[in-house]
Amino acid sequence: MLTITEENYLKALLHLSSREIKNPGVGTNQLAVQLNVRPATVNNMVKKLRDKELVDSEKYGKISLTSKGKALAVQIIRKHRLWETFLFTKLDFTWDEVHEVAEQLEHIQSEKLIEKLDKFLDYPQYDPHGDEIPSKNGKFKIEVKKTLADCKPGSICEVVSVKDNDTDFLQYVGSLGIGINSKVEVINKLNFDGTLSLQIDDNKVSVSQKIAENIYIR
Ligand SMILES: [Zn+2]
Repeated sequence: MLTITEENYLKALLHLSSREIKNPGVGTNQLAVQLNVRPATVNNMVKKLRDKELVDSEKYGKISLTSKGKALAVQIIRKHRLWETFLFTKLDFTWDEVHEVAEQLEHIQSEKLIEKLDKFLDYPQYDPHGDEIPSKNGKFKIEVKKTLADCKPGSICEVVSVKDNDTDFLQYVGSLGIGINSKVEVINKLNFDGTLSLQIDDNKVSVSQKIAENIYIR
């Protein structure tokens, strides 16, 4: 059985490697920043994970998940997203509240509990932030998604998901009337700093480039 810290490393590695489909290796410093620990700490943990055949790494080289490590990481993400869905749909948590709690619940070790939770929720496909929930057999496609910042003025984009782990961001986005499946028209983009003017239902709002980069669209 893995410790919570080990599980968080696997999850962070999957998260970072999914940004670069062509070159999925992750650097020690990159992982240290993501987990908010020192590079020396990362090196120690990577050694442990390598002994358990969950990661591959060369000295000073990139770290990558083995197929066993990746399968475990996907199952942690599955649990996280099922718990978020449960909190949101059954316990009336708001979409900005569920991530913190799911970060704790995702480490509960009971396959039976997760099976029952999945069934209780009627096998949901997406979590409250629009992210796909991996299936029991680990089927899950990692895709690099387009963001609202990629949207050209004059186009109408549909929101498919949003970054899930920042309460301020989610509250702000929600207050603008942006949710999953919202239709957003890009009216104008300021060349100077990428600020976007948007039409959402009857409202005109503007958002910074940083906000737009964390809203995923189709
Ligand atoms: Zn989350």
